[in-house]
Amino acid sequence: MDPKRIMVIGGGPGGYVAAIRAAQLGGRVTLIEKDRIGGTCLNRGCIPTKTLLHDAKLLRSFKNSPLFKFVTPDPSGLLQSMMERKEQVIDELVKGIELLLNSYRVKLVRGEAHLLSSKQVEIVREDRGREILEADAILLAPGSVSKILSHLRLDREKIITSDEALELRETPREMVIVGGGYIGVELATFFHTLGSKVTIVEILENILPGMEEEVVRNLRRIFEKERIQIFTGSTVEEICETGTRVGLKINTPKGRIDLSCEKLLLAVGRIPNISSALTQVGIEYTPQGIKVNSYLETSLPDVYAFGDAVGEMMLAPVAMAQGVLAAENAMGSRREWKKPLIPLCIFSYPEIASVGLTEREAKERGPIKIGRFPFRSNPKAVLSGEPEGWIKVIASQEEDAILGIHILGAEANLLASVALTMIGRKLGEFTQFIQAHPTIPEALREACLDVDGLAIHLPKSIRGKG
Ligand code: NAD
Repeated sequence: MDPKRIMVIGGGPGGYVAAIRAAQLGGRVTLIEKDRIGGTCLNRGCIPTKTLLHDAKLLRSFKNSPLFKFVTPDPSGLLQSMMERKEQVIDELVKGIELLLNSYRVKLVRGEAHLLSSKQVEIVREDRGREILEADAILLAPGSVSKILSHLRLDREKIITSDEALELRETPREMVIVGGGYIGVELATFFHTLGSKVTIVEILENILPGMEEEVVRNLRRIFEKERIQIFTGSTVEEICETGTRVGLKINTPKGRIDLSCEKLLLAVGRIPNISSALTQVGIEYTPQGIKVNSYLETSLPDVYAFGDAVGEMMLAPVAMAQGVLAAENAMGSRREWKKPLIPLCIFSYPEIASVGLTEREAKERGPIKIGRFPFRSNPKAVLSGEPEGWIKVIASQEEDAILGIHILGAEANLLASVALTMIGRKLGEFTQFIQAHPTIPEALREACLDVDGLAIHLPKSIRGKG
């Protein structure tokens, strides 16, 4: 029997992962990508921001270290060299994925795909050359694009999105960030560390909507202590561009405020990339994304969609997991997509990781108990110069089952992986283990012990308090 012909449209984390899985299962796979392989995550999102934030964290540690006074730092060209390293990291990872695809004999076709039917795709190459390819199943993973606010004209010089922010070669003196979501908070951390005066303008009553409220309250306190200005319940009403600067009038709960900055960054969310090239053949969609059923099938037979384009959770690991599932279904399985338990990680300073239910959500389900442990009482956090923040563990009153773990501080993103495996288990299943010393996981164990008032390194008077 001839191998099944699978065509994947979009080479981001959803698409390239789907291509590899389909090939592993014996498919003859073609992957169409108009840009560089890796999509937003690798080229303009997760990887470049985390590379820059990694260097910013080193800079912060170095500045806080006594070693700092023994060297004369030369800050000229700092951002430029960070950007160069970021490019090297992207190039290396892009090459790695191309090698992977090659090893699985995935045929990579450069060009823009236009869906002609559930079996046919027309490819328009950069040189405007065209060809029509056929497949037994088509997997759509076109990703998402930055949301724009119609009254703020994007000139990509002074008024920019994260795409341009990740290409800046000079640190702006001031940056106003519209939107206090994931991108807003991570880029606020980065540009603040490099010396920009950063202001966040968020329309809702707090930044990071949906995140555990106590974590957000504490992050906000730390941001404001470091002089990152935050206006919540606020919107940009008017802008006026003069020379190299942008003047803004913002509406805040306390009245109108005038601001001025070198860069105005829009980080107000992303929207599914639904172009008519993919939907002209009658695929159903809404502004929230391409419509799929629980098998990730679209309204067209043998056409699947996943990742940011279906708009459920715009996160790279979700796109990857959905890509695997769609590829397996296209190759003959019948697996259903179920909303996963995944850690939410933000690479701010301090870092944030959140797994399971928030306190508010947990309370709706019944009586709970809470333990907290501050990093200031953890030797590893102190010796690493990262004493800010704490860990909060939420457990059910009766069953002792862990319902949620929320971390603000040292190694939060690494701890998230352990925290994930603890959700639904009893507190004692984790506290029975002795952790290495001195390590950050000791703080997680102490937070679990504090749920029942048994943390050792907490004075009796502050047990259970944040
Ligand atoms: P987001 O949805 O996380 O945040 C957008 C923020 O902008 C929200 O807080 C929203 O209330 C606010 N906003 C919307 N309109 C506004 C207005 N007119 N004025 C002021 N504020 C306004 O989106 P994002 O930060 O742009 O990130 C895009 C996507 O990328 C998200 O889906 C996110 O999950 C993902 N992402 C994830 C990570 C991570 O996992 N660490 C990092 C960056 C981005």
